[in-house]
Amino acid sequence: MDRKVRVRFAPSPTGPLHIGGVRTALYNYLFAKKHGGDCLIRIEDTDQNRYVPGAEEYILEACEWLGIQFDEGPHVGGPHAPYRQSERKGMYRQYAEDLVRKGHAYLAFDTPEELEEMRKKLEAARMPAKYDAVSRMNMKNSLTLPEDEVQRRMNAGEPYVIRLKLPRKEEVRFHDEIRGWVVVHTSQMDDKVLLKNDGMPTYHLANVVDDHLMGITHVIRGEEWLPSAPLHVMLYRYFGWESTMPVFAHLPLILKPEGNGKLSKRDGDRLGFPVFPLQWTDPETGVVSSGYRESGYLPQAVINLLALLGWHPSDNRELFSLDELCREFRLDRVSKSGAKFDQNKARWFNHQYIMHADVFTIHDAVEELLQKQGYALSQHYVLRVIYMMREKVEFIPEIVEKGHYFFKDPESYDTDVVEKKWKGDIPGLMIKLRNHFENLKNWEEVMLKPHFESFASANNVKAGALMPALRLMVSGEAGGPPIFEMLELLGKETTMRRLDHALNVLPGPGESEIKAS
Ligand code: GLU
Repeated sequence: MDRKVRVRFAPSPTGPLHIGGVRTALYNYLFAKKHGGDCLIRIEDTDQNRYVPGAEEYILEACEWLGIQFDEGPHVGGPHAPYRQSERKGMYRQYAEDLVRKGHAYLAFDTPEELEEMRKKLEAARMPAKYDAVSRMNMKNSLTLPEDEVQRRMNAGEPYVIRLKLPRKEEVRFHDEIRGWVVVHTSQMDDKVLLKNDGMPTYHLANVVDDHLMGITHVIRGEEWLPSAPLHVMLYRYFGWESTMPVFAHLPLILKPEGNGKLSKRDGDRLGFPVFPLQWTDPETGVVSSGYRESGYLPQAVINLLALLGWHPSDNRELFSLDELCREFRLDRVSKSGAKFDQNKARWFNHQYIMHADVFTIHDAVEELLQKQGYALSQHYVLRVIYMMREKVEFIPEIVEKGHYFFKDPESYDTDVVEKKWKGDIPGLMIKLRNHFENLKNWEEVMLKPHFESFASANNVKAGALMPALRLMVSGEAGGPPIFEMLELLGKETTMRRLDHALNVLPGPGESEIKAS
C-alpha cells in the first residue's frame, strides 16, 4: 500500500467506553504508529436518541489517561474537521441523492404502520422480515410509485427515507485482515436506510462517506461490525470509491472470564472487576460503575493487558510498554477467536507495573489518597512507604490500606498472632526490649538491627522468636515490610508510644487475657 496509513477510532457517545472499545482505540493507535501513519478520532453521534451527555468527554479523557493520542479529532482539530458527525450533518444528503441518481438507492415513503404490516405478513409466511429486492416491490417507494406520484409526495413534504438498492442475487466478497475472505450474498442482506426522514444519515452512510473523505486506509473495529461490512463494501462500489476502499480488520470479542459470551457494558461490576477505564456515573440513574483508574490500576498496566487480549507477540514475552507495542504490533498476530478476560492476569499486570513504575507517579496517587484521609506527610516519608510496600500490593490504594500502620497507631492486635506468639517469656522480654530501645540514641535501621540481635543473645533467645511480637506491638499484625526499616521510618517517639500502648493492653507476664484497649 503506497498511501500513508490513516486509521480512525469512531466511537458513538452513547455512554462510557467499554474496555473492548478501549482496545479498539489502542489497536488503531498501535497500527498507525507502527506504520508511521495517523490515528484520528471521529465521534459518531448521528443517532441523537442514543446520545448521552458527558460520553464524548469521557471517551477523550479515558484515551488521554491511557496515553492513546489522536493526531486529529474534535479536541485537537485537523485537516478534515469537523470530527463530530452531527456537525457534518449537511454533507451526507448529497451522497445519498447521488446514489439515487445512479440508480443504487431509492426513496421510500412507507409509514411505520406499513412497515409493521409488511413485517407481520412476511413472518406469517415464514419469510425473513426484511425490506429487500423482493419485498420492496410491494411497498411505497420510488421503484413502485409512478414518477409524478413521487414528485407530488416530495412537494407535499411527505417524510421519506433513502434506502440502498441491493441486487437480488449477488455475491459480495471482501478480504478481512484477521478473518480472511468473507463472502455474503445480497439475498441475506436488506436495503438499509441511508438517510433518515429527519435528514440525518444512518451510521452506514456517515461511516462510509467519512472514511472516504478522511482518507482512511484501514478500518480496524470490533467484530460486531462484521455483518455491516458487506453493506459498506457495496456502498464503496456504488459510490465509485472501490479503488481506495479501506482494508477491513474485525477484532475478536473480549469474552467474560468464564468464556460464555461477550464481556458487555452491562456486566458492570457484577464480575468483580471494572469494565470501564474510568469511573462513570450514569447521568440518568446516578448509578456509579467502577473504573480501572479509580480502582488503582496504572494506565501502563491497562494498556499492556488490553494489548494482549486478542494480540500476541512472536515469543512468550508479556510485558510491553506502549512504545514497544507500537513497534511490535501486527494485525496478522491478532487472533480470530474471542479473548477471555482474566482477572487474575489483570491484577498480575498491575503488580508488575507497580513494581517497576516511576515512583513519583505512584507517590502522587498515594498522596492523594492520604490527603483524602486527612494525613499530611512529607514526600520523603511517603516515598519510603512506597518502596517498602510496593512488592506486597497489586493496587495503589493497597499501599495505604495494607500499610495502615505507617499512618496510624494500631487500634487492635491480630488475635491469632497474640495467641500463638505472645506467650511464655515473651511479654516479659518485650518489657525489657522496650526499656532497651528507650535508651538508644541512634534510631537508624543499621543500629536498630544489631541492637535487637545483641538483646536477643544477651537474653538467650533467638532474634527470630522475638520478631513477631515486636511486629505485633508496632503494627498490630504479623507480616509487613522489614521491621527495622519500618521502625526507623516511624521514628523513636511513635515506636515507643506504640510499644507502651501494646504493653498496656496485651497480657502482661503470667496473664493470659487481653485487656480492653
Ligand atoms: N460508531 C461505531 C461504534 O460505535 C463505529 C463502528 C466502526 O468503527 O465502523 O462502534
